[in-house]
Amino acid sequence: MLIESKYTALFDLLGKIEQCGFAIDKELVVKKILVFAPHPDDAEFYAGGLIASLVAAGNKVKILTITDGWCGSYHHTQMELGQIRQKEAIQAAEIMGTEVAFLGYHDFTLDTLPAGELREKLIRCIRMEKPDTVITIDPMATNEAHPDHRALARAGGDAVAHSGLPLVYPEHISDGLDAHFVPEKYFYSDDPARYNQFIDITAHIGMKLEGMRAHQSQVEFLVEDVARQAQLAGLDIQTLLGETAQNPFQALSFAIMSQAERVGSLAGYKYGEGYRYARFHAFVEELLAQ
Ligand SMILES: [Zn+2]
Repeated sequence: MLIESKYTALFDLLGKIEQCGFAIDKELVVKKILVFAPHPDDAEFYAGGLIASLVAAGNKVKILTITDGWCGSYHHTQMELGQIRQKEAIQAAEIMGTEVAFLGYHDFTLDTLPAGELREKLIRCIRMEKPDTVITIDPMATNEAHPDHRALARAGGDAVAHSGLPLVYPEHISDGLDAHFVPEKYFYSDDPARYNQFIDITAHIGMKLEGMRAHQSQVEFLVEDVARQAQLAGLDIQTLLGETAQNPFQALSFAIMSQAERVGSLAGYKYGEGYRYARFHAFVEELLAQ
């Protein structure tokens, strides 16, 4: 039996049933997961394996895409690219079995927003969605080059830390929302020094790649960007990569699988993703560990 975590009355009932001696399999509880992604492809690119594994286990995953990603092309106009990338994100969500929503900011603008604006919006989203788990960028990762990623990392980290306090943005409460503490947080980054939890994505790497395949314009852009730099460095990418140079998805798949192999090897998995995982205050965690 699958159980909706938001139905607290049902949980009360289940608690009573447990007290009566019936075992409840906690693994069957459906969790609600909210993913913050700065650009349309980032959820699949950074956390596609974890997302695919959560969906496969019956959980509900919603991706909140913060910007339109309209700067990632050498060929399209911004308006064209914004529309293309939104369609691709919707396709990726259909493939992955997730939901996707768009916050509507433009690419490369998040660090220019008024102080606190994005944080307030994210806290409002958390209070509306009431997720059991949030997946967002690690605010403490040190190697993040994109200003949108750094801005979301800071705002998302602040949001998951404070969404449970009713006196933070009390206007939300006046609007009928409840403060909501997020019990589980997965922070993604490219910084292995930050990882304290590894996810075995061996059974889900195929789905991660299929999700990425839907972001065709971004796959082509990422590969073209590297190829242009290789050319500037005096390398003949055509000779080095052969047919792969003509197939951007194949080239990106190779890069994603190599990265997943490297991370997986840190935990004994064939393919893995690494996260900074957090739940409760350290004192509560100590009590739980006893
Ligand atoms: Zn991005």
